Amino acid sequence: MAIERTFSIIKPDAVAKNHIGAIYNRFESAGLKIIASKMVHLTKEQAEGFYAEHSERPFFGALVSFMTSGPIMVQVLEGENAVLANREIMGATNPAQAARGTLRADYADSIDENAVHGSDALASAEREIAYFFAAGEICPRTR
Ligand code: UDP
Repeated sequence: MAIERTFSIIKPDAVAKNHIGAIYNRFESAGLKIIASKMVHLTKEQAEGFYAEHSERPFFGALVSFMTSGPIMVQVLEGENAVLANREIMGATNPAQAARGTLRADYADSIDENAVHGSDALASAEREIAYFFAAGEICPRTR
């Protein structure tokens, strides 16, 4: 089993509904460690840059508008197979198709406002972590 790092966002809908603690509890209960965390309110430019790969998709404008509608929590999660583990905790993009007990089944209202983001591969995790965190903001759990 490989120890990996992945990038996660609690989106504006879930922050507004006060689900930060419940979602962090899911990460920790699954054995993932939060090794960096902060609240940010994205600018339009930051949201467009983060979702640049979707810039040609029909939902891009609505996605940027949603992601800038309120503060988000961004975090780095570390653990065994963290990228896939977090995707399993999150559930399918569309909450109507998300498995029972996943974050999106429990906290998301629609495919547009779906509570959480998680990197889909190690390479995107590395890029997304660097988009939000300087190296000094990440705190490996050494005691
Ligand atoms: N999205 C949307 N409408 C769609 C498909 C996607 O608003 O029809 C948004 C949604 O917030 C999703 C994000 O675009 O989480 C990125 O889409 P992707 O297919 O990469 O899904 P994810 O990796 O987030 O499950």
